[in-house]
Amino acid sequence: MKLKKGMRALSLLLIMALLTAMLVPVVSAESNKNLSDHIQEKKKNPIINIEGISEIISDIPEKESLNIPENFEKYELLTLDIQKMRNELANGRMVPICIDGVFYKMNLSEIMVNAPDVKSQTLSYTGHLENSNKSEVVLTISERVLIARINVNGIDYVIESIPHKEKSGKVIHYAHRSSDVKEEGEYLSGTDDYLAHKEYSAEELKIREIEAKTEEEEMAVRSEVAVRIRIFTDDQWISDEPDWQAKAQDIIAELNNQFQRSDIQVHFYAHYDTSKASALSGDINHISRPFQSIMDQVSITYLNSNHEDLALYLGGYDSTYNAVGATYGYDSPYPDQRRYAWVQMKDDPSLYDGEHEDRTKVTIHEIGHLFDADHQPGQQGPGQESYNRAYQWTEQGTTKQTALWAPFLKSNTYEISSNDYNGDYYHNNALRIYQTRNVIASYVW
Ligand SMILES: [Zn+2]
Repeated sequence: MKLKKGMRALSLLLIMALLTAMLVPVVSAESNKNLSDHIQEKKKNPIINIEGISEIISDIPEKESLNIPENFEKYELLTLDIQKMRNELANGRMVPICIDGVFYKMNLSEIMVNAPDVKSQTLSYTGHLENSNKSEVVLTISERVLIARINVNGIDYVIESIPHKEKSGKVIHYAHRSSDVKEEGEYLSGTDDYLAHKEYSAEELKIREIEAKTEEEEMAVRSEVAVRIRIFTDDQWISDEPDWQAKAQDIIAELNNQFQRSDIQVHFYAHYDTSKASALSGDINHISRPFQSIMDQVSITYLNSNHEDLALYLGGYDSTYNAVGATYGYDSPYPDQRRYAWVQMKDDPSLYDGEHEDRTKVTIHEIGHLFDADHQPGQQGPGQESYNRAYQWTEQGTTKQTALWAPFLKSNTYEISSNDYNGDYYHNNALRIYQTRNVIASYVW
C-alpha cells in the first residue's frame, strides 16, 4: 500500500513535472510568437499603407519633439515616395491603399484650388475609395509632402507632415485615426466668433438685413461662382511649419470640397501672400485679437488692388482670444469688415488641436460666416432667417454636428447643413450661402 501509494505519488509528481516541462516551452513559444506576430502585424497592417509609396518608420523619435498633439493616443510615423505618388496621380492611375487591413483603390481627380496665375507644383485632389459604400478623399501633394484625409466607415484617416526629416532626407509624416484622438481641454464659449452679432445692436443688424436682401436679389444668378481668397500668415507659422503652404492649400481644397456641392456651387481660388508675415507678427493685437491684426495690416485697398474678395489669416500664435477663429462676417454694418477671417493654426488649451482636421473645420465655419451661414438655434444672432442654422444628428450611435455648430466640438464635421444632406428645412446653411454667394463674389470685380 505504502509502496503503491508512494509509486502513485511519484507517478503523479512525474506526470505533473512532465506536464509542466511540456507546458512551459509551449507557453513560452506562444508568447514569443505573439510578440513577433504583433510586430509583423504592425508592419504588415499599419493604419494606412499606400502600396509601394509609404513606409513605416520603426525608429520612433520622442513624441514631444515631433509636435504631435499629446492627446493623439495612437499614430504611426512614415515616409513617402512623393515623386512616385505624384507620377501615379499625374497619370490618372487609381492608387492602391490599405486602411486598417482593408484594401481599396483611391479614385481621385484634380481640383483647382489656386488662382490660375499661382506658380506652384502643389496639386490637390478629391475623390473616393473604390469598393467602399461611402467614402471621401481630399489630398494635397507638394514636391516634399502629402496631406490627406480619407473618410471611410465614419472615421477620418489623416496623413500630415511634421517639420522633421529622416536620415534619408525624406520629410517625416504621421498617420492617425480621428477615433484615436482623446478629447482634452475645455469647450470654448459659443458666439464669440461671429463678431457682428456681438458688437452691433439688433436695430443695426435689422437695417443691414434689409440692405443685404436687396443686394442678394439683384445679384441672384445660377451656376458656379468664383470667389477669390488671399491667404495670409505670420512669421510664426512659417517658422513652425516649413510646409505651411501645402497645408494651407489642403485647407482650401477641403473648403472647395464642401462649397462645390450642387446646392452651394462656390469655387474658391487662392493666392498665398507672405508679404505681410512680419507685419502680422509685429502687430500689437497678434495674440489678443488676431482678427483685428489682419484688418489693420491688410487694407481694403490692398485687397482691391489684388482683386481679392476675401482675406483669410491663418495665424501661427496661440491666441488669448476666447475663440480659435473669428470674423465680423456678412452681417457687419461696415462693408470693409465683411471680407476678413482669422483661424488659429496653433494647438489651443481648449479642445482645439492645431492640426489638419480642426484647422479645416474651423476655416469652413469662419468662411461660412462670411457668407452669413449662422450657428444652431440658441447660438444665432438677432433677426436671423429661420432656416439658416447648423444641424446636429446621430449616426451609428454617434452625435455629429455640421461645421457651423458653436462652440467647436471634436464631433463637428466638415459639412454644411442642408435640406439635401444632413439638415432639414429649418437647418439649411447651404441655402443661405447659395443666396449670398454672388454678393461675396462681387466684392471686387
Ligand atoms: Zn461661429
